[in-house]
Amino acid sequence: MRIVRVETHLLDHRLAVPFESASMRFDRRTHLLVEVECDDGTVGWGECLGPAGPNAAVVRAYAGRLIGADPLQTERIWAELYNALRDQGQRGLSVTALSGIDVALWDIKGKALGQPVSVLLGGRFRDRVRAYATGSFRRDGVDRVTDNAEEAAGHRAAGFHALKIKIGFGLAEDLRVIAAVREAIGPEMRLMIDGNHGYDTLEAIELGRRAADFDIDWFEEPVVPEHLAAYREVRARQPIPVAGGETWHTRWGFREPLESRAIDIAQPDLCGCGGFTEMRRIADMAALHGVRLVPHVWGTAVQIAASLQWMAAMVPSPVRRNPIEPILEFDRTDNPFRQAVVTTPIEHADGIVTIPDGPGLGIEINRDALKDFAPKEAP
Ligand SMILES: [Mg+2]
Repeated sequence: MRIVRVETHLLDHRLAVPFESASMRFDRRTHLLVEVECDDGTVGWGECLGPAGPNAAVVRAYAGRLIGADPLQTERIWAELYNALRDQGQRGLSVTALSGIDVALWDIKGKALGQPVSVLLGGRFRDRVRAYATGSFRRDGVDRVTDNAEEAAGHRAAGFHALKIKIGFGLAEDLRVIAAVREAIGPEMRLMIDGNHGYDTLEAIELGRRAADFDIDWFEEPVVPEHLAAYREVRARQPIPVAGGETWHTRWGFREPLESRAIDIAQPDLCGCGGFTEMRRIADMAALHGVRLVPHVWGTAVQIAASLQWMAAMVPSPVRRNPIEPILEFDRTDNPFRQAVVTTPIEHADGIVTIPDGPGLGIEINRDALKDFAPKEAP
């Protein structure tokens, strides 16, 4: 079995109502899918976290090394691609692009062997997972407190048992939002807050101390991801568990956060941290250090499917025997192609998502949607 073709598919949609986190404004949704075809006709799909155009350029840079390679030799290909850009690319786009390729190769491996990726990873501990809604960004032209509270009530009505909201826009307004959302969802539903590194150390500590009254499960990316000493300080000086990791890549990127206990919850992104091949190592490291792992997910159904395969195979904590742990991040913001890229959308029912059990990622790509959402202008 040999690789004969590597293709990138940019997806793009201009939003009617732009929204923003503390670190990024979204006027459009853009994502990049990676397609790898083999000489026997087998096709694998992956996705890259981050800016689609630059990711596509790096995937194309790697493609020459993939043509003619045996796609089943995932570890060998990972090492070769990583080494190709190692001197200038130990993190960032070189790794997010590599992640999309690695996910596609595991999809191929599963299809070649007639097994879901979760079985290849060692076995399925679960066939479904709880999902938490990610939403409540700041939207243009509306009152954020009212808007976020109304949205939160909608997630509760849809059956979600947990919700993550966006903060990092200033202490006073954020605290009003947190209070209004807690009021809207009631005392039982779990609530997480994501700062998207919008705070400095002192603001994050103050926010965490005052938000703790609202029963918060975790405080995500309180400060910029480069400042691990600031992470440790936030963790030590306010009561909410600290989460982070969506921008940390490879085992080397996670070593110091884990060893120095900068976080309570690690959030590597399968399509950013190095794919299935590297995620296994990061997960072993997190387990070794007693740090809980909750994957970051922000993409199309391809990424969701890959993350579900990963989560099916996550080894249960010895003390948390709930068979539907861990918890899936389920983006609820506007993205018309999120589910359109697959023939069978991956949806939740009362906050529970069933994990596909077909070969590879367990999904079929809808090529019409790839055409419909191809960029009409430069992304
Ligand atoms: Mg986040």
